[in-house]
Amino acid sequence: MKSLWNDADAASFGGPLGPRVYTSRLLGRDKSLVLHGGGNTSVKIEENNLFGEKEEVLYVKGSGWDLETIEPAGFAPVKLDYLRRLATLPALSDPQMVNELATHTLRAGAPAPSVETILHAILPHKYVDHTHADAVLSISNAPDGDRRIRDIYGDKVVVIPYIMAGFDLAAYCAREYPKQKTKNTAGMVLLSHGVFSFAADARESYELMIELVSMAEKYLAAQKAWSVGSPAVPAPAFKREEAAKLRNEVSRKAGFPLLCRCNDSPHFLGFARHPDVARISQGGPATPDHVIRTKPLPMLGRNVEDFALNYRNYFERNSKKAKEPKTMLDPAPRMALDPQFGFAAFGRTARDVGIVEDLFEHTVEVILRAEALGGWRALDDKHTFDIEYWDLEQAKLKKAGSPPAFAGEVAIVTGAASGIGKASAAAFLKRGAAVVGLDRNPAVETLWQRPDFLGLVCDLTQEKEIKDVIDKAVKHFGGVDMLVLNAGIFPASQAVQDIGSDMWRKAMTVNVEANLLVMQACHALLKLAPRGGRIVVIGSKNVPAPGPGAAAYSASKAAMNQLARVTALEWGKDGIRINSIHPNAVYDTALWTDEVLASRARAYNLSVEQYKKNNLLKTEVTSKDVAELAAEMCGPLFAKTTAAQVPVDGGNERVV
Ligand SMILES: [Zn+2]
Repeated sequence: MKSLWNDADAASFGGPLGPRVYTSRLLGRDKSLVLHGGGNTSVKIEENNLFGEKEEVLYVKGSGWDLETIEPAGFAPVKLDYLRRLATLPALSDPQMVNELATHTLRAGAPAPSVETILHAILPHKYVDHTHADAVLSISNAPDGDRRIRDIYGDKVVVIPYIMAGFDLAAYCAREYPKQKTKNTAGMVLLSHGVFSFAADARESYELMIELVSMAEKYLAAQKAWSVGSPAVPAPAFKREEAAKLRNEVSRKAGFPLLCRCNDSPHFLGFARHPDVARISQGGPATPDHVIRTKPLPMLGRNVEDFALNYRNYFERNSKKAKEPKTMLDPAPRMALDPQFGFAAFGRTARDVGIVEDLFEHTVEVILRAEALGGWRALDDKHTFDIEYWDLEQAKLKKAGSPPAFAGEVAIVTGAASGIGKASAAAFLKRGAAVVGLDRNPAVETLWQRPDFLGLVCDLTQEKEIKDVIDKAVKHFGGVDMLVLNAGIFPASQAVQDIGSDMWRKAMTVNVEANLLVMQACHALLKLAPRGGRIVVIGSKNVPAPGPGAAAYSASKAAMNQLARVTALEWGKDGIRINSIHPNAVYDTALWTDEVLASRARAYNLSVEQYKKNNLLKTEVTSKDVAELAAEMCGPLFAKTTAAQVPVDGGNERVV
């Protein structure tokens, strides 16, 4: 591990917190040191208060901030002398500690100080850095981890046994640190938890962290426990319906829909097929705080019932010993290891899924390295339970509001690169769905840079391409709950006697057959949607009221309309509902070039402006108007409606 310090970069971080922000970000950049809000840093600064008196302030990472992207505002300023007094108390409950930290924070609106704040306060150094380095965890969770750590570091670190983060750990360290420290002390190892470094200078403290972790890495290398990848095995063909079935069962057990991502990279697939997977995967997390995201153990195989039963037993066994009454969380897994899928991560949002995957990716390495040292030893499940059912976590649960309407659900939108499709993707994202946007236009791939959007290029007239993108969608998000059939073409205006067979066939292929193919590919998946499948067809006013010159378009849309009605008849028994929207005169779409617009206006003997608002309400209909209705049609308002056709056209006298 190398120091990433760069003088020019460091100089660009000004102000009293500049060096602290800079080196915190350097730590955050290395995923083998900290992951997703893990780890924390602090600096002690002397400041003048309003009365001109000198006051020592501990600036410590606030909860909700990530080291990689932290800003000065992400540090909570807390009165240092008060924190040090707190550490001398014989006991302090977690809610009391949180209260004391909050009431001694010196800036209104600052984030809640880390639960490791008091520990930062009792260390005498100006800069304190704390990570959950993989290499240190591999060693401390191997046989004789304690002895190995002492062998590696000698008197360079103070060694602390595992104690849950919070007041007890801080108070223990406050007593133990002065006893163990020597003139060589540069850090502190918390067994099965992580490592601290500290110094008077930001760079020195950061580089001590790099040095301490490098020593652990060198030890692993010397013990032939560094390069531990599994042998590459070819990934089996992905079976999307099996994945969707697994997601359905896990969601039902959770009581709400969850996304699922299957990852059959050699790293995960090799681990899932490891001859000792049943033993090494069932020990516990690499460090207990992962448990909030991952639950204590991955499910082995696909028996969700068994997993839930074991989880219930774990809860009952441990909650009996707890001081406070505990409320059981849902018993569904957040991770699964399967010889076919590799690793499957479950979560309410795409971000949560990504976090679970990242955490387990590192866990696999930590486990395999500890195995190479003689055997992976996780903490027993009482410690894991203490974190998972910590009062503060339970309080957060009670405070959490209701999730967005489509949390944990997946929507596919065709023709998503522009117009109504793009607006629909946005409407579903806004309601918490993970969205797969399909389009022939490669712009779809980069429409949004966010984990809950997957843009895929696809020619929907090609069955093979549809199969490929649906496979990708299910591998990435776990299934298909909602389908917005929006992609379509509007051929140039032609009189019936002039329509060429190519144009006629193209309209039928894109506006009807492509939708049939997509629905067929999704049928089994929609059946497995935890809340029932939903399809919205973006139809046209031309279905009830066709226009002269638009025979191919009107006929294809009318055919699609009949297809939707028959689908409602046939798929109702599968819990799938299908409804149509008939928009008219939506001009902010790719379909409506100036040329098409002018030609249609001519066909009605109107100016373009008149044509745009040519409706009973004299209003303009936008893509967003249509998209919002499409999203609502998939929600609870339309839960008992199928085969409906709703106009969004400002009122059309030929339709009413
Ligand atoms: Zn920690």
